[in-house]
Amino acid sequence: EIEIRGLRKSFGGDEVLRGIDLDVARGEVVCVIGPSGSGKSTLLRCVNLLEEPSAGKVFVGGTEVTDLDVDIDAVRRRIGMVFQQFNLFPHVTVAENLTLPQRRVLKRDKARAASVARENLERVGLADKADAYPAQLSGGQQQRVAIARALAMSPEVMLFDEPTSALDPELVGEVLAVMRMLAAEGMTMMVVTHEMSFAREVADRVVFMDEGAIVEQGPAEQVVGSPRQERTRNFLNRIL
Ligand code: ATP
Ligand code: MG
Repeated sequence: EIEIRGLRKSFGGDEVLRGIDLDVARGEVVCVIGPSGSGKSTLLRCVNLLEEPSAGKVFVGGTEVTDLDVDIDAVRRRIGMVFQQFNLFPHVTVAENLTLPQRRVLKRDKARAASVARENLERVGLADKADAYPAQLSGGQQQRVAIARALAMSPEVMLFDEPTSALDPELVGEVLAVMRMLAAEGMTMMVVTHEMSFAREVADRVVFMDEGAIVEQGPAEQVVGSPRQERTRNFLNRIL
């Protein structure tokens, strides 16, 4: 579903992605771990073209998104992204947070957008908050709305960039539960996370990045449980 080939990204003279090759199969969940500054966010942002790669190719569902002739908006529509900060629209209701992008970007009519919104709020367990404003919700609820908003666009793949890092510890579980449900439903997911228990339980594969390169990858029990590389061991010792 996602194919990344020889991906490089420089900011000024600083190369922060140094030739990344990575495939994510349909329905696969790949967790990306690594130290701060290793390029995890930049990698995700290159997949949905929030950053323009300096070199290399990215394919999503067989379409080369790095092709200069590609319609960037059409590509982004197929890729849902959830950030550490929830980025909800503060001045409209939860329901409108879900309907507005569908209306604007997908040109869905009002009734259809509303029914898709309802359906996805139900999926994340927040049907009863449709008429609330984001500020009236807890952080965990806001992040679940952000996930529902991304899902309402019917994406082929979902990218998560540390979706629980800004949450109080007691709110992390409810967001991970929604992500676990998506994984079980067969959603293709790339997840940057420091939640090793989630990675162990849900990830089909864990990718450890350092200094803009993939150092080690494999099943969670191998990469997290018995890492082969010194750098992976050092990193895990620091965070666990
Ligand atoms: P963290 O765990 O702290 O989120 P990360 O692995 O996500 O780190 P990135 O945010 O991808 O790391 O950053 C990789 C490197 O690229 C860092 O050195 C960062 O300073 C640099 N960088 C990222 N975005 C930009 C930008 N827009 N302009 C210049 N440098 C950037
Ligand atoms: Mg980051």
